[in-house]
Amino acid sequence: MLFCFDFDGTLSDIVKNPDKAQPVKNAEKSVERLAALKGCMVCVISGRRIYDLKKRFKVKNIIYCGNHGAEIQGRGISYRFRLDEAYKKSVKCASFLVWGALKKIPGFIKENKGYVTAFHYRNVSAPDRLKVERWFRNFADAGNSMIRIRKGNKVFEILPAIFTGKAQAIRLIAEKEQIPEQGVFFAGDDTTDIEAFKELGKKTVKVFIGRKTVTAADMLLKSPQELVLLLEIMMDLMKEG
Ligand SMILES: [Mg+2]
Repeated sequence: MLFCFDFDGTLSDIVKNPDKAQPVKNAEKSVERLAALKGCMVCVISGRRIYDLKKRFKVKNIIYCGNHGAEIQGRGISYRFRLDEAYKKSVKCASFLVWGALKKIPGFIKENKGYVTAFHYRNVSAPDRLKVERWFRNFADAGNSMIRIRKGNKVFEILPAIFTGKAQAIRLIAEKEQIPEQGVFFAGDDTTDIEAFKELGKKTVKVFIGRKTVTAADMLLKSPQELVLLLEIMMDLMKEG
């Protein structure tokens, strides 16, 4: 089986400052135990870069997948999505425009993630949040076909239009390891994860973490702590055969 987990909001609680995100209690221990089981492979897949992810979630013998699937590393896999110059330039140019227009808003943060630029507004005041959202809506309507704007949890990302997402990365790993669709498990909490739920095969087990109803998911859990509990229960059941 291939177990895939998003990081922020899935293995860690969402915190005000994304730089302070840490795995919840026992998350690393449970994932490590899962990765050591025969026939189980674990992948942590996040919008963060791999080096950032590895700093926060320290488990050996798992696959790390960064930048929403554009970089994959571990268990004999080393993959990097290659991008045409024209796309890189479009992202750069659009990011420049965004930053020029919104950088004066207190709490508005730009994060360069290689092919992707993220604009965080978690720490922006409520009226300014509306301003940011309105601005991005208008910007998206202007329609540059080389880029795509993706909205996450209090973050907007500008990415190349042809960019891969988490679903493609999960499929790539599953194919390489010859794991069938029904052997794949994926847990996530964000809009980008729901996007992936819809793209993944029907038989894939999809778990949404959060306090809303997501019809594309097979199971709804309230918090990362509940996910850790689920893993523990699953592993105990597997042990019993
Ligand atoms: Mg997340």
